[in-house]
Amino acid sequence: MNGSGQCLCGAVTFEAKDIESHVHACHCSMCRRWNDGPALAASVGSVNFSGEENITRYESSEWAERGFCNKCGSNLFYFLKPDRYIMWAGLFSDQAFELDGEIFCEDKPSWYNFAGDHPRHDQMPDMPES
Ligand SMILES: [Zn+2]
Repeated sequence: MNGSGQCLCGAVTFEAKDIESHVHACHCSMCRRWNDGPALAASVGSVNFSGEENITRYESSEWAERGFCNKCGSNLFYFLKPDRYIMWAGLFSDQAFELDGEIFCEDKPSWYNFAGDHPRHDQMPDMPES
């Protein structure tokens, strides 16, 4: 599906194509520290931003950047170099997502759990995170 979204203040808006409707939750310590909780994110085929000057990119590892709005602080994406954007699901206007899996469950603290019957991986099945 295609869709649009924005940060809390609207200084950053975007149009995304080929949005993966199956969201993954990431419980790694980096995502939890950045978000105050697990990341709920959807991979997209491509994304065009408006207000790109309001995006700050933080290089969280050699292979990835994390982007946020520098006006309101909304977290926007995990960018896996060189070209894959994984957008934070809560930014989208249309919330037609399903929780399809959880990753880095070995890092998840015990005080919260997601309900539902879906795969729960201790680490990342097929790609680096952070
Ligand atoms: Zn903003």
